[in-house]
Amino acid sequence: MDFLWPKGLTPPNFPTLRGEVETEVLVIGGGMAGILCALQLQEAGISCVLAEGKRIGGGITKGTTAVLTAQHDTLYQDLVKRFGAEKARLYLNANLQAVERLRTLSQRIPCDFEERPSVMYSLRDRPLLEREAETVRSLGFEAEFTTETSLPFPVAGAVRYPGMAQFHPMKFLYGAARGLHIYENTFIQTLDGTTAYSEHGRIRAQKVIITTHYPFLNSRGLYFMKLYQQRSYVIALENAPDLGCTIEDAAENGIYLRNYQGLLLIGGGDHRTGKPGGGFAVPRAFARRYFPNAKEKYAWANQDCVSLDGAPYIGAYSAGLPNVYVASGFNLWGMTTSMAAAGILADLVSGRKNPFAPAFRPNRSALTGQLFVNMGTTLLDFVTPTTKRCSHLGCALKWNPEEHSWDCPCHGSRFDEHGKLIDNPAGKDSHVEAGL
Ligand SMILES: Cc1cc2nc3c(=O)[nH]c(=O)nc-3n(C[C@H](O)[C@H](O)[C@H](O)COP(=O)(O)OP(=O)(O)OC[C@H]3O[C@@H](n4cnc5c(N)ncnc54)[C@H](O)[C@@H]3O)c2cc1C
Repeated sequence: MDFLWPKGLTPPNFPTLRGEVETEVLVIGGGMAGILCALQLQEAGISCVLAEGKRIGGGITKGTTAVLTAQHDTLYQDLVKRFGAEKARLYLNANLQAVERLRTLSQRIPCDFEERPSVMYSLRDRPLLEREAETVRSLGFEAEFTTETSLPFPVAGAVRYPGMAQFHPMKFLYGAARGLHIYENTFIQTLDGTTAYSEHGRIRAQKVIITTHYPFLNSRGLYFMKLYQQRSYVIALENAPDLGCTIEDAAENGIYLRNYQGLLLIGGGDHRTGKPGGGFAVPRAFARRYFPNAKEKYAWANQDCVSLDGAPYIGAYSAGLPNVYVASGFNLWGMTTSMAAAGILADLVSGRKNPFAPAFRPNRSALTGQLFVNMGTTLLDFVTPTTKRCSHLGCALKWNPEEHSWDCPCHGSRFDEHGKLIDNPAGKDSHVEAGL
């Protein structure tokens, strides 16, 4: 696995917490969501401490493709159907505002920010894209329907959002982190009210924001039923064209592309973590077919939390946990939705209303088809006979032959071949070496 973004960068260092500190707000987790929350709070004059279990940016954020757009698949027609036009408009405006806020921040944080239109295409389903363009225009943004793209093959239809962007996520994250009050290698083991405990210290806070990618408290909020993880595979090619935009296939688990300097990044092969799927073979086959003279320089896989209904969970963690907030379920669009989360949560912890909050409330109805898929997967997995079980909630682990890891199909925790933890929500290693 060779990630592009951390290459050649020197990460800033932050101390490990030893002893006790007090703060108005504690942010737990130093990925894009946590760093943006801490930055927003600091700018609002609110004292804030961020505790990161390992190194900042070392989780999912290092494997993103960092496209900054409010065009999230063909989501808007679904949001209108599910929640109505008003909430869909809030989602759209929250993400458009997030792109603008990232543009402003990039003026003082060097991060190779570039304006690029984003494009969503379909090879066969022109009406889907026509409907999406029309829906988005009805919500107030001038999305354009077209059949012309810079791809080396014809498409049935495409929707283009002007004024969107892309950046270098780790340059941005490291730059944004400078000047924040951060502890690294400070894994929060428990939360008692709003006091957090790590191996060597304690943080007393008035409010807590949990941005641990997969929320780490199981006892509240039912996030273990409301989220699964989707794995996706990215390659970066030399000697391939610059497409002039970021671009994605609207088909389920379709290909997505962006350029970075002399490289063309191609992603795809998605599947639910722990289940079989296309993997690296999918972007590699696409590259061989359309860019036969290109050479692969980097390849990595990564995963993100997927919510039940296409919108993330941003707001109060659960009714039984006062003063605790969450941002998760970014559905592989966590660059802009993290930025939106920072604005929403900075308002909520200050007792202010936020205009976008109603579109993201974590306690909205969970009654969706995906809930039953998640429940079915978990039930089936629990009765699977194996001794190789996840240290999170005891689900049966599945061997991932492509990446040589043990993966949980229920919640997406991953372990190396010796059981060492790679990805959460599990918080410790699993025993995988003996037995069936
Ligand atoms: C292949 C791929 C491509 C993507 N491309 C895009 C894109 O182009 N545009 C876009 O908008 N989005 C994209 N995304 C989504 C985006 O990358 C993610 O949504 C985002 O990076 C998630 O950030 P995060 O802060 O929630 O998680 P993370 O970056 O994982 O941060 C969470 C942090 O919490 C820490 N942590 C966990 N538990 C604890 C604890 N108990 N105590 C202390 N710390 C803890 C972890 O160590 C980690 O550093 C993509 C996702 C994938 C998988």
